[in-house]
Amino acid sequence: PIRSSSNGSTEEEKTLAMIKPDGVLGNYTERIKMVIVESGFSIIRETITQLDEHRASNFYVEHSSKSFFSGLIKYMTSGPVLVMILKKENAVADWRTLIGPTDAQKAKITHPHSIRAMCGLDSEKNCVHGSDSLESAQREISFFFGEISSGDAVGEHDEL
Ligand code: UDP
Repeated sequence: PIRSSSNGSTEEEKTLAMIKPDGVLGNYTERIKMVIVESGFSIIRETITQLDEHRASNFYVEHSSKSFFSGLIKYMTSGPVLVMILKKENAVADWRTLIGPTDAQKAKITHPHSIRAMCGLDSEKNCVHGSDSLESAQREISFFFGEISSGDAVGEHDEL
Protein backbone atom coordinates (compact mmCIF):
# COMPACT_ATOMS: atom_id res chain seq x y z
CA PRO A 1 0.00 0.00 0.00
CA ILE A 2 1.08 3.55 -0.68
CA ARG A 3 1.74 5.36 2.56
CA SER A 4 1.42 9.07 2.93
CA SER A 5 4.11 11.08 4.61
CA SER A 6 3.50 14.27 6.55
CA ASN A 7 3.82 16.43 3.46
CA GLY A 8 1.26 14.32 1.62
CA SER A 9 3.62 12.74 -0.90
CA THR A 10 3.86 8.98 -1.34
CA GLU A 11 6.68 7.05 0.32
CA GLU A 12 9.07 5.99 -2.37
CA GLU A 13 12.29 4.03 -2.20
CA LYS A 14 15.58 4.72 -3.89
CA THR A 15 17.89 2.06 -5.22
CA LEU A 16 21.19 2.06 -7.02
CA ALA A 17 21.31 0.74 -10.56
CA MET A 18 24.47 0.37 -12.58
CA ILE A 19 25.07 -0.49 -16.20
CA LYS A 20 28.34 -2.38 -16.04
CA PRO A 21 31.18 -2.05 -18.58
CA ASP A 22 29.82 -4.78 -20.89
CA GLY A 23 26.46 -3.02 -21.00
CA VAL A 24 27.94 0.42 -21.72
CA LEU A 25 30.43 -0.86 -24.31
CA GLY A 26 27.76 -3.08 -25.89
CA ASN A 27 25.55 -0.02 -26.44
CA TYR A 28 22.72 -1.23 -24.20
CA THR A 29 22.41 2.01 -22.25
CA GLU A 30 19.44 3.50 -24.10
CA ARG A 31 17.54 0.21 -24.26
CA ILE A 32 18.02 -0.34 -20.54
CA LYS A 33 16.95 3.19 -19.68
CA MET A 34 13.83 2.71 -21.77
CA VAL A 35 12.95 -0.42 -19.78
CA ILE A 36 13.62 1.47 -16.54
CA VAL A 37 11.25 4.31 -17.41
CA GLU A 38 8.59 2.03 -18.91
CA SER A 39 8.66 0.05 -15.66
CA GLY A 40 7.68 3.11 -13.65
CA PHE A 41 11.04 4.15 -12.18
CA SER A 42 12.25 7.72 -12.20
CA ILE A 43 15.95 8.22 -12.83
CA ILE A 44 16.68 10.96 -10.31
CA ARG A 45 20.48 11.09 -10.63
CA GLU A 46 22.94 9.59 -13.03
CA THR A 47 26.64 9.73 -13.65
CA ILE A 48 29.10 7.91 -15.82
CA THR A 49 32.37 6.94 -14.18
CA GLN A 50 35.37 4.71 -14.65
CA LEU A 51 36.13 2.57 -11.59
CA ASP A 52 39.73 1.91 -10.66
CA GLU A 53 40.85 -1.18 -8.77
CA HIS A 54 40.59 0.54 -5.41
CA ARG A 55 37.03 1.80 -5.88
CA ALA A 56 35.78 -1.43 -7.48
CA SER A 57 37.26 -3.47 -4.60
CA ASN A 58 35.64 -1.15 -2.10
CA PHE A 59 32.26 -1.36 -3.84
CA TYR A 60 32.37 -5.18 -3.84
CA VAL A 61 34.17 -5.55 -0.49
CA GLU A 62 31.65 -8.17 0.70
CA HIS A 63 32.95 -10.48 -2.05
CA SER A 64 36.68 -9.92 -1.40
CA SER A 65 37.26 -13.50 -0.20
CA LYS A 66 35.43 -15.12 -3.11
CA SER A 67 37.24 -17.03 -5.84
CA PHE A 68 35.64 -14.82 -8.50
CA PHE A 69 36.80 -11.55 -6.88
CA SER A 70 39.89 -10.81 -8.99
CA GLY A 71 37.97 -11.56 -12.19
CA LEU A 72 35.13 -9.36 -10.99
CA ILE A 73 37.47 -6.41 -10.33
CA LYS A 74 39.12 -6.82 -13.72
CA TYR A 75 35.69 -6.84 -15.37
CA MET A 76 34.38 -3.86 -13.40
CA THR A 77 37.44 -1.76 -14.27
CA SER A 78 37.44 -2.71 -17.97
CA GLY A 79 35.43 0.34 -19.05
CA PRO A 80 33.04 3.03 -17.90
CA VAL A 81 29.92 2.30 -15.87
CA LEU A 82 26.68 4.29 -15.80
CA VAL A 83 25.37 4.66 -12.27
CA MET A 84 21.80 5.77 -11.57
CA ILE A 85 19.57 6.40 -8.58
CA LEU A 86 16.15 4.94 -9.35
CA LYS A 87 13.10 6.02 -7.41
CA LYS A 88 9.76 4.30 -7.14
CA GLU A 89 7.59 2.56 -4.60
CA ASN A 90 9.33 -0.76 -3.74
CA ALA A 91 12.29 0.23 -5.95
CA VAL A 92 14.86 -2.11 -4.38
CA ALA A 93 12.95 -5.36 -4.88
CA ASP A 94 11.35 -4.32 -8.17
CA TRP A 95 14.70 -3.43 -9.74
CA ARG A 96 16.16 -6.77 -8.61
CA THR A 97 13.21 -8.54 -10.23
CA LEU A 98 13.63 -6.57 -13.43
CA ILE A 99 17.36 -7.37 -13.78
CA GLY A 100 16.90 -11.10 -13.15
CA PRO A 101 19.24 -13.71 -11.67
CA THR A 102 23.01 -13.20 -11.35
CA ASP A 103 23.86 -15.81 -13.99
CA ALA A 104 22.79 -14.34 -17.32
CA GLN A 105 22.84 -17.79 -18.96
CA LYS A 106 20.26 -18.99 -16.45
CA ALA A 107 18.36 -15.73 -16.80
CA LYS A 108 17.87 -16.40 -20.52
CA ILE A 109 16.08 -19.64 -19.60
CA THR A 110 14.23 -18.80 -16.39
CA HIS A 111 13.67 -15.02 -16.80
CA PRO A 112 13.75 -14.38 -20.57
CA HIS A 113 12.28 -10.88 -20.21
CA SER A 114 14.84 -9.75 -17.63
CA ILE A 115 17.54 -7.21 -18.43
CA ARG A 116 20.31 -9.72 -17.75
CA ALA A 117 18.70 -12.11 -20.23
CA MET A 118 18.68 -9.27 -22.78
CA CYS A 119 22.26 -8.13 -22.46
CA GLY A 120 24.25 -10.33 -20.05
CA LEU A 121 26.70 -13.05 -21.04
CA ASP A 122 27.35 -15.30 -18.02
CA SER A 123 27.60 -15.30 -14.21
CA GLU A 124 30.29 -12.60 -14.28
CA LYS A 125 29.47 -10.37 -17.25
CA ASN A 126 25.84 -9.79 -16.40
CA CYS A 127 25.45 -6.25 -17.67
CA VAL A 128 23.73 -4.58 -14.71
CA HIS A 129 23.83 -4.20 -10.94
CA GLY A 130 21.08 -3.63 -8.43
CA SER A 131 21.25 -3.08 -4.67
CA ASP A 132 20.08 -6.20 -2.81
CA SER A 133 18.50 -4.44 0.21
CA LEU A 134 17.51 -1.00 1.45
CA GLU A 135 20.72 -0.92 3.54
CA SER A 136 22.86 -1.76 0.49
CA ALA A 137 21.00 0.85 -1.52
CA GLN A 138 21.82 3.55 1.02
CA ARG A 139 25.47 2.52 1.17
CA GLU A 140 25.80 2.31 -2.62
CA ILE A 141 24.01 5.61 -3.27
CA SER A 142 26.36 7.32 -0.79
CA PHE A 143 29.30 5.54 -2.42
CA PHE A 144 28.64 7.18 -5.76
CA PHE A 145 26.67 10.31 -4.97
CA GLY A 146 27.36 11.23 -1.36
CA GLU A 147 24.45 11.95 0.92
CA ILE A 148 21.20 12.52 -0.95
CA SER A 149 18.58 14.67 0.72
CA SER A 150 15.27 12.93 1.36
CA GLY A 151 13.57 15.80 -0.43
CA ASP A 152 14.98 14.76 -3.82
CA ALA A 153 11.85 14.98 -5.90
CA VAL A 154 10.75 12.72 -8.71
CA GLY A 155 11.81 14.34 -11.93
CA GLU A 156 14.81 16.09 -10.45
CA HIS A 157 17.75 15.20 -12.59
CA ASP A 158 21.22 16.48 -11.91
CA GLU A 159 24.07 16.19 -14.30
CA LEU A 160 27.08 15.43 -12.15
N1 UDP B 1 30.00 -12.78 -9.95
C1 UDP B 1 30.94 -13.55 -10.62
N2 UDP B 1 30.93 -14.90 -10.44
C2 UDP B 1 30.02 -15.52 -9.64
C3 UDP B 1 29.08 -14.74 -8.95
C4 UDP B 1 29.08 -13.37 -9.14
O1 UDP B 1 31.78 -13.02 -11.33
O2 UDP B 1 30.05 -16.75 -9.52
C5 UDP B 1 29.98 -11.32 -10.16
C6 UDP B 1 28.78 -10.87 -10.99
O3 UDP B 1 29.18 -9.81 -11.84
C7 UDP B 1 27.81 -10.39 -9.91
C8 UDP B 1 28.76 -9.78 -8.87
O4 UDP B 1 29.90 -10.66 -8.89
O5 UDP B 1 26.85 -9.49 -10.40
C9 UDP B 1 28.22 -9.69 -7.48
O6 UDP B 1 27.75 -10.95 -7.09
P1 UDP B 1 26.38 -11.13 -6.31
O7 UDP B 1 26.32 -12.53 -5.82
O8 UDP B 1 26.24 -10.03 -5.31
O9 UDP B 1 25.28 -11.00 -7.48
P2 UDP B 1 24.24 -9.85 -7.84
O10 UDP B 1 23.73 -9.29 -6.54
O11 UDP B 1 24.95 -8.84 -8.69
O12 UDP B 1 23.18 -10.57 -8.63
